[in-house]
Amino acid sequence: MCLFCKIVEKEIPANVELESEEFLAFHDINPIAPIHLLVIPKKHVDSFQELEAETMAKMTTFIQELAKKMGLDKDGYRLLTNIGENGGQEIKHLHFHLVGGTKLKWVHLSDDMKKVKEAI
Ligand code: AMP
Repeated sequence: MCLFCKIVEKEIPANVELESEEFLAFHDINPIAPIHLLVIPKKHVDSFQELEAETMAKMTTFIQELAKKMGLDKDGYRLLTNIGENGGQEIKHLHFHLVGGTKLKWVHLSDDMKKVKEAI
């Protein structure tokens, strides 16, 4: 069983912020901003690439509700998901990072900026 499945099963504790029948939102153990939550489907899905569109539609409503609950809906926030090795996904259970509570910076994510510039 993966780490996030263990959190769903309450075998590992988590600081849960919002829960529904299908989804769970809990605080990231190593936050990168004042508010940093992880949103997961309770049913194991490896990554966004394997996610069914129907589940994504329901997850959208859940995430919007979470953003409202955290008071982020007016000023904004960032939502991202890492996919696979190149995407930097460490935990192989789909999770969206919901990050906010401050003005966020936008950073270059590639070490190889020469290639990026050539591609433009
Ligand atoms: P990713 O690199 O997109 O797979 O992100 C994994 C995230 O899970 C990281 O931001 C970690 O800080 C976070 N994380 C790892 N273990 C836990 C845990 N037990 N509870 C909450 N967040 C965790």
